[in-house]
Amino acid sequence: MPDRKDSDSRKLLRRLKEILAAPGGGQDRLDQITHHIADSMGTQVCSIYLFRDAETLELCATEGLRVEAVHQTRLRLGEGLVGRVARTGRYVNTADAPSAPGFRFMPETGEEVFPSFLGVPIQRVGERLGVLVVQSQEKRLFSDDEVYGLEVVAMVLAEMTELGAFQGSQSDSMPLAHRFPLMFRGGTGQEGAAEGHVWLHDPRVVVANPVGDDPEAELQRLHDGVNRLRETVDTMVAAADMGGGGEHTAVLETYRMFAHSRSWLRRMEEDIKLGLSAEAAVEKEQSAARARLELAADPYLRDRLHDLDDLSNRLLRILTGQGSDTGAEMPEDPILVARNIGPAELLEYGRKLRGVVLEEGSVGSHAAIVARALAIPLVIHASRITAEALNGDPILVDGDQGIVHLRPEDSVTAAFRDNLAMQAEAQNRYASLRNLPATGTCGTTIQLYMNAGLMADLPSLEGSGAEGVGLFRTELQFLIRNHVPRRTELARLYRHVMDSAKGKPVMFRTLDIGSDKVLPYMKPQDEPNPAMGWRAIRVGLDKRGVLRMQLQSLIRASAGRPLHVMFPFISDITEYEAAYRILMHELAREQRLGHDMPSDIRVGAMLETPSLAFAPKRFFEMCDFISIGGNDLKQFFFAADRENERVRRRYDTLNTSFLMLLRQIVSRCEEARVPLSFCGEDAGRPIEALTFAALGIRRLSMRPASIGPVKHLIRRVSIDELRKVIDEAQESGLTNLRRPITEWLARQ
Ligand code: PEP
Ligand code: MG
Repeated sequence: MPDRKDSDSRKLLRRLKEILAAPGGGQDRLDQITHHIADSMGTQVCSIYLFRDAETLELCATEGLRVEAVHQTRLRLGEGLVGRVARTGRYVNTADAPSAPGFRFMPETGEEVFPSFLGVPIQRVGERLGVLVVQSQEKRLFSDDEVYGLEVVAMVLAEMTELGAFQGSQSDSMPLAHRFPLMFRGGTGQEGAAEGHVWLHDPRVVVANPVGDDPEAELQRLHDGVNRLRETVDTMVAAADMGGGGEHTAVLETYRMFAHSRSWLRRMEEDIKLGLSAEAAVEKEQSAARARLELAADPYLRDRLHDLDDLSNRLLRILTGQGSDTGAEMPEDPILVARNIGPAELLEYGRKLRGVVLEEGSVGSHAAIVARALAIPLVIHASRITAEALNGDPILVDGDQGIVHLRPEDSVTAAFRDNLAMQAEAQNRYASLRNLPATGTCGTTIQLYMNAGLMADLPSLEGSGAEGVGLFRTELQFLIRNHVPRRTELARLYRHVMDSAKGKPVMFRTLDIGSDKVLPYMKPQDEPNPAMGWRAIRVGLDKRGVLRMQLQSLIRASAGRPLHVMFPFISDITEYEAAYRILMHELAREQRLGHDMPSDIRVGAMLETPSLAFAPKRFFEMCDFISIGGNDLKQFFFAADRENERVRRRYDTLNTSFLMLLRQIVSRCEEARVPLSFCGEDAGRPIEALTFAALGIRRLSMRPASIGPVKHLIRRVSIDELRKVIDEAQESGLTNLRRPITEWLARQ
């Protein structure tokens, strides 16, 4: 068979367009399409397989195979050559199908007489819809041009599927894209459960005309669009330059390089010459990039493919004139679905969101930090959800398990609702404790504080019954901006925080940047081990300007009120002494300048490295308070990265060795009479919190949502008695105390 010419391809696509425009049922259209493709490609067979559900493909139309097999022949994803194309998203081209790996014989179709096989995926921007196959009697390999041509046709079919061209009439058994229930297993970003409807952060562009009538005009549209795209990218780079973007500009520069890529443009031009419209060509290349993205392990390559994906989206919006505002109305119970989202954008949505589901993100990502502040359940790593979800789809988010149900079955929804109702009941119980102290039956009282970092957190201070803010992570304000905040801006913000706290104490922790908290406008440090690298107070002492500016803002904000300052990540007494001196220097300077002084100043340190537990007594005596940053302390004690899912949960907080370290810290603080608190995530876990209390830690700072459950447990048991249980268990040589503690609790 001779190679197909551009004009053949265009003729075929025009036919497809006419079929789409003409009235008729879905099955009828599919039958006509297979007929025309076989005719145009000069093959005896053309078949269309579409997904019936997420795992099953169904033969939906054929020219050349037995018609009785239509809607009867089904294959699992990955089964046979068709299943292989669907699973990998890549074409299979063979002159001898029965000998090809994975071949499955389907006698009902009568395909045994057609050994040549070419199957290409029908996919749209990474979403797999089905497989398009041509087969012929003559034993031969299809040419590159033929493969390319069939991919172009598949692209148009994908768009037609999206537009609903194959629904209706005899199509009761027709699989419908975006209709079947799907479950996504991701990771926990923020605990909690929510039911609602999908709201896409970046809604997909609808390509209404996949076929281009006039290739010259389409090429012109593409070039105009690309020029506009380049202009916008150039402007972005220039703006970053003006802001002293540093490395940030370098990232944008790579982005610009892609926007100017000749090969990208050339591939799209080829697609248009074969008959696609400009936007369909962009989407075809975007689909190909997404398929490569799923296979790419190299993080650099993945980043580049992401750039290409972003650029394609921008270009599509330019060509179709569709902004991200599609005119769709946000549901009343929106669950935001996005590939990723910046902290500022997430804050803009604010508390109206019921939940968030991301394809990317990480526990320490900025979006996760904001979701936590807003107490919105967040699931991360929900792979491919943006390709599957449509605006308005019903969705269930289980942040505790990291699971998402899209378009769930009724039985799943019912079970989920039962769970939600139980949680709501518990919340009501906790609310009734709000104004009661966390006093155990033995009479010991534990102070419960909350952790915060954004203004959005502050309303929880009243609602949760927290006695104050035990940890205010000041870096979050730096993370959500794209520039270093100015002193006046910071002072205003800290003043606002203190005003909202209405006299309750707020422990301001100075900037803890570095490690997982990378400021977008700061030159990223290429460190092999960032958690143990140049971070927190180490940065503060080396780059004093920012630390001083922050301290000045805090002093000015507190004017006439008590001020609590806490230095993060102190590993050695000399660091504390140096930071302390800077603070004293700034206090004197502010006084000289005539600013109102704080009525009282308390200075403390975060104990986050084991070394500090062994610091000289002088250190403990110098501090007005100490707070254990358990997240970091535990990571360094066990040498287990808190961000690494593989090792994160490997070591239990109730491990005897770790509790021994905590005992040592408690006794050193008692000896120096310095108040001690615990502000890592474990303080918000009821059993851990109770154990810390039994070890002698009298103040715990946690997420506001944890205060109810922790208080509820503390009020029901004797902390003194638990202390005895722990002492005995520890003396008996047990290496982990979770079991004796939970058994004791069960007996209460
Ligand atoms: C900690 O390390 O426990 C802590 C509270 O600080 P962060 O989680 O911000 O590092
Ligand atoms: Mg820390």
